[in-house]
Amino acid sequence: MTKKSGWNFDNSYARLPKVFFSNTNPTPVSAPELVKINEPLAAALGLNVEELKSEDGAAVFAGNSIPEGATPLAQAYAGHQFGHFTMLGDGRAVLIGEQITPQGDRFDIQLKGSGRTPYSRGGDGRAALGPMLREYIISEAMHALGIPTTRSLAVVTTGEEITRETYLPGAVLTRVAASHLRVGTFQYAARWGSIDDLRALADYAIKRHYPAIEKAENPYLSLLEEVIKRQAMLIAKWQLVGFIHGVMNTDNMTISGETIDYGPCAFMDKFDLATVFSSIDREGRYAYGNQPNIGVWNLARLAEALLPLLDDNEEQAVTLAQEKLSDFAGLFKANYLEGMRAKLGIFNEEEQDTALIEGLNKMMQKYGADYTNTFLALTFDKPEETAFFGTSEFNEWNELWQARLGRQKESKENSQELMRNSNPSVIPRNHRVEEALEAAVEEGDYSVMERLLEVLSSPYEHTPEKKEYCTLPAPSTHPYRTFCGT
Ligand code: AMP
Ligand code: MG
Repeated sequence: MTKKSGWNFDNSYARLPKVFFSNTNPTPVSAPELVKINEPLAAALGLNVEELKSEDGAAVFAGNSIPEGATPLAQAYAGHQFGHFTMLGDGRAVLIGEQITPQGDRFDIQLKGSGRTPYSRGGDGRAALGPMLREYIISEAMHALGIPTTRSLAVVTTGEEITRETYLPGAVLTRVAASHLRVGTFQYAARWGSIDDLRALADYAIKRHYPAIEKAENPYLSLLEEVIKRQAMLIAKWQLVGFIHGVMNTDNMTISGETIDYGPCAFMDKFDLATVFSSIDREGRYAYGNQPNIGVWNLARLAEALLPLLDDNEEQAVTLAQEKLSDFAGLFKANYLEGMRAKLGIFNEEEQDTALIEGLNKMMQKYGADYTNTFLALTFDKPEETAFFGTSEFNEWNELWQARLGRQKESKENSQELMRNSNPSVIPRNHRVEEALEAAVEEGDYSVMERLLEVLSSPYEHTPEKKEYCTLPAPSTHPYRTFCGT
């Protein structure tokens, strides 16, 4: 079965010191049923889609059968959740192994919602169907938008109910990631491991994600530098599409630079720096406009964990770490400006671009403009469709923008093409996602979700069928809210 399915595991994480994991099998479920499989991803991983769709295939995704070569384990990690440090670990997830693709790439295959582990604390180790489908939809949308992310390979229902505020159908999501190493994994090592454990973890992270720095003068300092670079790039990409992660706890920040943990995340409709969706984020810690600040805060926690490896002299280690952390703001800004210039059809760099971009953001904020649709209106030369059309601010801003475009050698057509390739025609709008989930979970009708996934898979193609996915939700008296602990 394994051979035909294409599973090809090599489990390097299981060779790390024992403190980093607990060998744990998933807990079998009563009646697994495959409700979604990601065929292109399966093929890219070297898996046989038809085999995966069989009863035996679904049994693997449910945790009922362990494929040959798998070494199921739950990972230990810690994390700052809303600023408070705690011991965490995979409370409801099991890494079944690392799939080596036909190209020789390595990906973690993790079951999420697969039962209790030694790190479950009070939890049941399970997940509900709605949130697992939601992670599937949003992570795949992020991938199509060109944003580094964990992927979703499959969702199975378990045939069992789980208890939340009500009874909900249970499900298991198969998550695929460059790795599940987190800032919190290093915090765990620094707090509960020995210095050798910490070094082993850092060496492992370097080998797996940043092999080019293995021979660097101070590889651990280079590791910090590389993670800072990747996170600055990642968070800039979030800002550019209006993605709000919602729970940027240190255990939800990867070392690889992939977006992870689609809990209370959502895309912003109206541009507002203060946008939060998470029901428990009362202080706005993880608000849209605060994501870069939280990013660097989390990276400071990584730096702290790495201190003993950076230099034998603690003061010197702190100085080195601070230097690297101070680069974050500039790196973030450079990535953000590069993306924003493209969204505005600008090819080269000018000093005044920052002011031009800030001017647009201010207008969007003041007039409550829809973020995605504003850029679409500008792309297709329909300023009359923006919320600020006809205002003196817009007239002034537009003059500056047109003059700016005129000062580059590329033609208007080139600019428009750049804008089409940089401004998504469609994002997973909350009301659309909810509608798809409701049909699937309440009626067992997956067609709404399939259509949504289809349009979300090509966000930079501006085809007529995308139009209806650009419409805003009907005005509601309640702000959209998402929930943790799903
Ligand atoms: P998350 O909010 O998904 O990042 O999860 C935070 C921590 O809580 C992680 O250690 C999860 O493994 C754990 N957790 C979340 N839900 C459950 C659950 N139902 N049972 C056990 N642990 C859970
Ligand atoms: Mg998490």
